[in-house]
Amino acid sequence: MATSMSDPRPRLGVPVDEWETDVLVIGGGLAGLVAARVAGTAGARVTVLAKGFAGADGVSPFAGGVALCLFPEDDLDAFLDEHEWACEGLVHREAVTRVAAISGRLWEWLAAQGVPVEREPLGTLRRRWLRVGGRSRVPRLALESVSFMRHLRRCALAAGARILDHGVVTELLTGEDGGVAGAVGFRYQEGRLFRIRARAVVLAAGGCAWRGAHMGVHSAMGEGYGLAARAGAELASMEYCTSYIATCSLFDSHGQDVLAALGGRFRNRLGENILERHGEPDPAPPQRLTLAMLTEWLEGRGPVVFDLRAIPAERRRQWERDFPLVARALARTGVDVFAQPVPWIPGFTGSIAGSGGVRTLDLAGRTTVPGLFAVGDTACRTPVVGAGSGLTYLNLSWALASGYWAGAAAAELAREGLPAPTEPAVEAEAWNRALAPLGREGGTRPVDVLRRLQRLVVDPERNFFRSAAGLKSSLRDLEGVWDDVCRLAAADWHDLVRCHEVEHATLTALAMFSSALVRQETRGWHRRLDFPRRDDTHWRRWTVARLEPCGERPAFRVHTIALEDPAAFDARLPAAEVGVLP
Ligand SMILES: Cc1cc2nc3c(=O)[nH]c(=O)nc-3n(C[C@H](O)[C@H](O)[C@H](O)COP(=O)(O)OP(=O)(O)OC[C@H]3O[C@@H](n4cnc5c(N)ncnc54)[C@H](O)[C@@H]3O)c2cc1C
Repeated sequence: MATSMSDPRPRLGVPVDEWETDVLVIGGGLAGLVAARVAGTAGARVTVLAKGFAGADGVSPFAGGVALCLFPEDDLDAFLDEHEWACEGLVHREAVTRVAAISGRLWEWLAAQGVPVEREPLGTLRRRWLRVGGRSRVPRLALESVSFMRHLRRCALAAGARILDHGVVTELLTGEDGGVAGAVGFRYQEGRLFRIRARAVVLAAGGCAWRGAHMGVHSAMGEGYGLAARAGAELASMEYCTSYIATCSLFDSHGQDVLAALGGRFRNRLGENILERHGEPDPAPPQRLTLAMLTEWLEGRGPVVFDLRAIPAERRRQWERDFPLVARALARTGVDVFAQPVPWIPGFTGSIAGSGGVRTLDLAGRTTVPGLFAVGDTACRTPVVGAGSGLTYLNLSWALASGYWAGAAAAELAREGLPAPTEPAVEAEAWNRALAPLGREGGTRPVDVLRRLQRLVVDPERNFFRSAAGLKSSLRDLEGVWDDVCRLAAADWHDLVRCHEVEHATLTALAMFSSALVRQETRGWHRRLDFPRRDDTHWRRWTVARLEPCGERPAFRVHTIALEDPAAFDARLPAAEVGVLP
């Protein structure tokens, strides 16, 4: 494949830092910092790279902080049955069982290290039972995400991890044996390149929201997917990189869907309850609510409003005590959502409330590239959230569990010694590609390319109501976007960050539309007007996309794998867990 930034010019004068580590963690969100903490505790030398400031960037600090937390005494089977229903299938039941079953222990483990989590008077973790995201009764912790993430950064440092903030990875390095060998990139505040050699790399670079509607998603630009695909890893279920989570159109705040747990009603212009009108349960899984909202708009009964006027004052006060973070954020907006119906829209969240991502082979997050692990929003989450997800649900617990398992497995792998060497010419080429847009004259601006891209991926008429003709047209339009990516010009180092983001977001869109064309059914977030029904006979399968090294423009070859295929996913508990939990 001709890469976008194939303009190798020597960049004499740009200093290069060269480091060596056992485990390189790319991303300083929840999944990355947990992986760093665990790998460091297990004795590995750990380096964390974050595009912004680890513990304060990524989507983690913006999360509503509502996390699944099951204890052994809870009814796991009842939880799983309802979960599978709300996810519309494609879940690997054993995998989600493992994540749910370990969630309580892992939150306890973090709390024991001083991470702020509320407790009951008798000392157990404080949990709330919520009706949300289509589930009737799920126990969740409520975390104050900002201070929680700040503390997690300290935990990673205390385990000996070195954190390099403001470092953007532009390419993974592979060794002569095909395994991962480290990464290259640049630090934009200092104007320096870097090369880090590592035996194991944990990709924790978040998801892709193409700068969608929600707070905190600005940094989620698909870099984890693009980096992995270009290093030869497979992506899976990429058609599920689309999602639209209901949010107020007047402002954005954390965890608005926990408001739905109070029993508010979504109404159309005629005052009708739209879930009732569409025969959907209340609460409805987010993909069903989105369908109802968009249909109302398209059929001329919009706008949709959210009506909380019938909520008794005492329930409101209790809710404010239970979710102080969300309540505070709402109060700051100055709009009293309990006093009047407020306009509500399906806000685009891309893969974050979807489930596509880097294909992992097991719970430790191993990918098809030896030494490369994927965790959190970077990993494909279909095994645990199937065809539908939602922000206020399993995501934080998945980020925690996957980071924990991968951190342990990566530390264990690192004991095997150094990675195979990378050819110096390959490294030099990677550095040149990293810098190519800098100072390029007469090129395209990243903001313009992003706008073109957003018109393809955010528009529900293209990417929620899909059809073969529409997807093919989007793929053709993406060719033009890619040509623009190849001409990206960066005015300065900060602009250079945007160029790389846009490149990876374009690759992610390509994988998404290519995979969506292959899945010929409607299920969860993937809706095909030309195949309007769920087809369990032929489509209990995951799609797998591989970047093809051919032609001028990138292309993904997509095949499918049956859920029942033993090669699809190994859901046994990773052996490396032993010894890390207290
Ligand atoms: C508004 C909102 C509310 C949410 N509420 C909830 C909730 O209540 N409950 C729940 O379970 N889930 C919730 N979620 C989802 C949850 O927050 C995420 O699934 C989870 O935090 C993902 O963590 P992560 O570590 O995988 O990714 P992130 O937190 O996104 O971290 C990614 C990291 O990778 C870094 N990075 C990216 N690219 C590069 C690069 N090229 N080089 C170096 N570093 C890079 C980023 O800077 C960042 O540090 C919410 C999400 C949003 C957006």
